[in-house]
Amino acid sequence: MKYQAVIGLEVHVQLATDTKIFCGCSTKFGAPPNSQTCPVCLGMPGALPVLNRKVVEYAIKAGLATGCAIAPRSVFARKNYFYPDLPKGYQISQYELPICEHGQLDIEVEGVAKRIGITRIHMEEDAGKLVHGDVPGMGDGSGVDLNRACTPLLEIVSEPDLRSADEAVTYLKKLHQIVVYLGITDGNMEEGSFRCDANVSVMPVGSDKFGTRAEIKNVNSFKFVKQAIEYEIERQIELIEEGGKVVQETRLFDPGNGETRSMRGKEEAHDYRYFPDPDLVPLVISDDWVEDTRLGLPELPEAKMARYREELGLPLYDAEVLTASRELAEYFEACLLAGAGAKSAANWVMGEVTRGLNDGGIDIGACPVTPGQLAALLALIDKGTISNKIAKTVFDEMWQNGGEPAEIVEKKGLVQVSDTGEIEKIIDEIMAANMGQVEEYRGGKEKVFGFFVGQVMRASKGKANPAVVNDLLVKKLKG
Ligand code: ADP
Ligand code: MG
Ligand code: ZN
Repeated sequence: MKYQAVIGLEVHVQLATDTKIFCGCSTKFGAPPNSQTCPVCLGMPGALPVLNRKVVEYAIKAGLATGCAIAPRSVFARKNYFYPDLPKGYQISQYELPICEHGQLDIEVEGVAKRIGITRIHMEEDAGKLVHGDVPGMGDGSGVDLNRACTPLLEIVSEPDLRSADEAVTYLKKLHQIVVYLGITDGNMEEGSFRCDANVSVMPVGSDKFGTRAEIKNVNSFKFVKQAIEYEIERQIELIEEGGKVVQETRLFDPGNGETRSMRGKEEAHDYRYFPDPDLVPLVISDDWVEDTRLGLPELPEAKMARYREELGLPLYDAEVLTASRELAEYFEACLLAGAGAKSAANWVMGEVTRGLNDGGIDIGACPVTPGQLAALLALIDKGTISNKIAKTVFDEMWQNGGEPAEIVEKKGLVQVSDTGEIEKIIDEIMAANMGQVEEYRGGKEKVFGFFVGQVMRASKGKANPAVVNDLLVKKLKG
């Protein structure tokens, strides 16, 4: 029998607000344990939560960017469970009435386009963290750090529309790109700002009845998501083939051996006893707020890519690379504003700029060559002041020591020589010194032409205008 996998993802996105969702404490990462806490996030009896407006704004942005309907009225609920890092004994989340519903994301895998439904997006608070081992200020043992308690999260739940690990990873990457473009999260997966629970089941091909699913918790890299889903699909198929039955359970992925293992079964599953949080009034969002937020949305990667192709005439590959991150796209667009042509700016941003950033391990935000400087450099090439090759030397100099391209060209005497008299003189000298090769060329061995070009360029220290060199060489060699 052949099997079909069915996958639905629940993604947690940590929002990049300065303060927590229900109190004014800082959300800054890496502070000493419990230094960013107050009675609200410590769960003191009687302390009352106050909703952070920014969190709502970010949730609306995420909803609009994924085609969701924004609920005019949504409700916070208590999700009850006990855990040492959850001092209130419940997490404030949304349940029956989330802020966003009925969205979608379009993905393409191996040329096949597909629409993945987004069931809902809701807001919630994160829990604290348990620290084991060497606990700061305490020595060896286990401690509770509540700095992260009450940090704002969005949970984005997909429909079970995904059919392979590749589709799941494509969906995740696209979702990640969108929330980072929106500026609502730093998207740092290693620090857990974007993490995913994968629900996986299998059914016979052609069936329309989904199998029982297992949920793999908290996977925090694209690579692990792919591995975990692939392993899980295989495991379930083997189990069924052997006459067994998949049980509904929560599993953990172990990156060490690439396997998933059972964490808790359905019997041990929590009954969260959700109910509306009486400390928070229902959240009412006006149409005006939604529309203002819509107007303030940045151009998203998909629209940007289409514009680069249609209006700037860039190939698909260029459009994809340049829009991969919002910062890179903004750098490229700043080059255009400074007068650069689209294709040459694209080539340099994807080439020299990207190479420099990778080599130096730096972000585009810290790029030592400004868009204005790059545009000025490209203008020098266009005017014929310098060749493409010399431009690379100038670029390296700007990268290392700063400075404006025109000044560097001037100071280092790099101006391209297009003066035919000067180039002719060099050619004459080289031909005189290499009569053997001249005879070869005249005897029909045209390959030695390259030799002469190389010699002339070397003699001019790379400054001779290559087009002029070619012209003159052909004339002179032909005699
Ligand atoms: P829970 O809150 O228990 O995790 P939900 O109904 O919210 O349950 O579903 C969670 C996720 O599981 C959703 O992303 C959904 O698409 C996915 N899902 C539901 N049924 C299946 C299934 N049979 N196989 C794979 N994924 C599923
Ligand atoms: Mg779940
Ligand atoms: Zn607090």
